[in-house]
Amino acid sequence: MRGGIDLGGTKIQAVVVDAAGEVLGETRVPTPRDGGPPGVAAAMGEAVEQAAGQAGVAPGDLEGVGVGSPGVVDDKAGTVASAGNLPDWEEPYPLRDVLAKDVGTKVRLGNDVQVATDAEFELGSAKPYDSILGVFWGTGVGGGIVLDGRPWIGRSAAGEIGHVVVRIGGRQCTCGRRGCMEAYAGRLAMELRARQLMEEKGHQTKLFEIMEERGRERLTSGVWARALKAEDKMAKKLLREAIEALGAGVASTLNILDVEAVVIGGGMGVRLGEPYAERIREAMMPHLFADSNPPAVHVAALGDLGGAIGASLLVKQSDK
Ligand SMILES: [Zn+2]
Repeated sequence: MRGGIDLGGTKIQAVVVDAAGEVLGETRVPTPRDGGPPGVAAAMGEAVEQAAGQAGVAPGDLEGVGVGSPGVVDDKAGTVASAGNLPDWEEPYPLRDVLAKDVGTKVRLGNDVQVATDAEFELGSAKPYDSILGVFWGTGVGGGIVLDGRPWIGRSAAGEIGHVVVRIGGRQCTCGRRGCMEAYAGRLAMELRARQLMEEKGHQTKLFEIMEERGRERLTSGVWARALKAEDKMAKKLLREAIEALGAGVASTLNILDVEAVVIGGGMGVRLGEPYAERIREAMMPHLFADSNPPAVHVAALGDLGGAIGASLLVKQSDK
C-alpha cells in the first residue's frame, strides 16, 4: 500500500491505495492558516494517519507517501518553495524529510498538476494514450504534459497553460502579466470580474446571493453550477468568455504538442463535466491547425481524488 497527499491552499487530501491504485482509505483536512510550513506538514502527517487507519494499516507500514504540492518542488533536495497559496511559504522548506520523520516511511515530492495528469494517464480517462495534455480548470488553470509515456516538466515550469496569451494587452492576470488565458478562465479571475461588473457597472447577478445561501466566501464551482442552472445571465456570459479563452489556449498548446488527447480536470472542469468539455472542444476547433484530425477531449475520470492518487504514484516511480 502507498500513500498520496494532494496539498492545496484550502484543503489537504490524503489517500491510501493498493498496488492497483484502488483507494482503501481517504481523508481531507483543512489547510492550517497558522503555523507556517511546519503547521502544514503536521496536518499532512495527521491526514496520512487517518487515511491509513481507514485502510487498516499504520503509516509506517506504507511503502511510501507521495506529495503533490504547489509551488517550486525540488524532489532531489526534498524541498518546496514559493507555494503562493500556502501560508507563509516562500523560502524552501524541507518538507520531504520533516514528513518522512513524522509518518515513518519514505516520502517523495512532485508538482500537484503533474501528478494529477499522471494519475489520469495511468489510471483515468487517458489510459489508452501515450501522449496527453491535462488541463486543470479551477481557481487558476494548470496544465500537465505526458509525452511518449513520460511526464514533461521542462526545466521545472512546463505546462503553465493558464499563462498562454489569448489576448495581447488583454485583462490583467494574477501573475502580473496581461491577456493570459487564466485572466478569463480562472475561477478567481471570473469572480473578480463578476464583482467588477456588479459594483462598477451595475450589472445584475444571482452569483453572490447563491454564494451566501450556500455559506461560501468564494464563488466555488458549485456556486457557478447553481447560477447556470438558474439561468443567471452574468454567469452564462462569464462562462462563455472562459470557454472561449480555454479553447484558444488549449488549441494553441495543441498546435505545438499535437498530443492524442486532452483531459479536462480541476474543480470547474469536474463539476461542469461532459457538456462543458464538449464546449471547450468546440471552442478550440477554430484555432486548431490540424482541425481535420482533432485530439480526443475527456473529463478527468478520477475527479477530485486524482491529485492524491497521482501523488501516490510518485512512490512507485521512485522504485523504477
Ligand atoms: Zn498570467
